[in-house]
Amino acid sequence: MLKQLVAEPSISSTTADIDRSNLRVIEHLANWLDDLGFATELMPLPDRPDKANLIATLGANGKTHPGGLVLAGHTDTVPVDESLWQSDPFQLRDSDQRFYGLGSCDMKGFFPVALHAAATFADKNLAAPLTIVATSDEESSMAGSRYLVESGTPKADYAIIGEPTGMQPIYAHKGVSMMSVQVHGAAGHSSDPSLGNNALDTMHAVMSALMSFREQLAQQHQHPGFAVNVPTLNLGCMRAGDNPNRICGHAELQIDLRLLPGMDSEAIHKQLEQRCHDAAVGSNTHVTVSTVYPPVPPFESSAEGALTKSLAQLSGRTPGTVAFGTEAHFLQTLGMQTVVWGPGHIDQAHQPDEYLEQSHILPAIDTLQKVIGQYCLT
Ligand SMILES: [Zn+2]
Repeated sequence: MLKQLVAEPSISSTTADIDRSNLRVIEHLANWLDDLGFATELMPLPDRPDKANLIATLGANGKTHPGGLVLAGHTDTVPVDESLWQSDPFQLRDSDQRFYGLGSCDMKGFFPVALHAAATFADKNLAAPLTIVATSDEESSMAGSRYLVESGTPKADYAIIGEPTGMQPIYAHKGVSMMSVQVHGAAGHSSDPSLGNNALDTMHAVMSALMSFREQLAQQHQHPGFAVNVPTLNLGCMRAGDNPNRICGHAELQIDLRLLPGMDSEAIHKQLEQRCHDAAVGSNTHVTVSTVYPPVPPFESSAEGALTKSLAQLSGRTPGTVAFGTEAHFLQTLGMQTVVWGPGHIDQAHQPDEYLEQSHILPAIDTLQKVIGQYCLT
């Protein structure tokens, strides 16, 4: 199964010429789940016939009687630079007790594991439904899981998102916003400053404003559950000007803002934008602030939640937090107690020669079988 899933390119990107359909991956999953007796529903995204989510339910009353457990994952991968790989990223390579391939770890590998665990229950009478959800575009816009929320489906009591956490149950993560701050000035000959409006001069003030905003956020917000226990604001890259002897007409700074659970992303974005505008006052330049990708909201359920505890006990790992974003916020919004837990390590995700550690596969199947038994059988 993993070999077939990896062989289907399903890169998602906000850059249109790299972006690919995820339908082939969805079709494989739908066929396999169909064979197991799941009721499968394809959910094409509005205005995107080349993208779809899949909702597959086992347990006849799944739709009319909410409850039970969702196992969720995304079908897309990040873009790939094939020249950096030792082998074809779309051909699964079995070597060193690892499965190498694009998406092997993040996170096509979760589906065969989930399906194998689910197969045990195919002929059982479930007390609560087992639902497998496959989404599109997690790595870019999260359009798939946003659409789940819009559609109000699926409904369940519990959800496991099978992102690679090394099988540690994750009950909280930071939000991720990548933003672009642009200063629009006017170019001119460098010998006379009055011939233009220097965008870099304003950017200097904008950067200072952002750094003091960062300090203020860190003073106001802390969360003891995180290794880096404050929100972070990274000045990541800047592009500006072209010549030392020309007044810089335009400058762009891209930042990465990671907010803690409980922080209001929208309100913070507004404050940040205001700080940038204020920094440009009196400069004859103007500033615009936009998001590079739609922001991933922060997520927090309870370290003491039933599902967190079950997963901790079954996989022998203490619940924790991570600093990367997932679809957890969206499933939680749909009313599910949500935990991020899956085979593979995030260190291997988004990397050349991405791989899934084979030693994770059987323990992951075993844990999922027990969780399904606990939450769907009784
Ligand atoms: Zn992922």
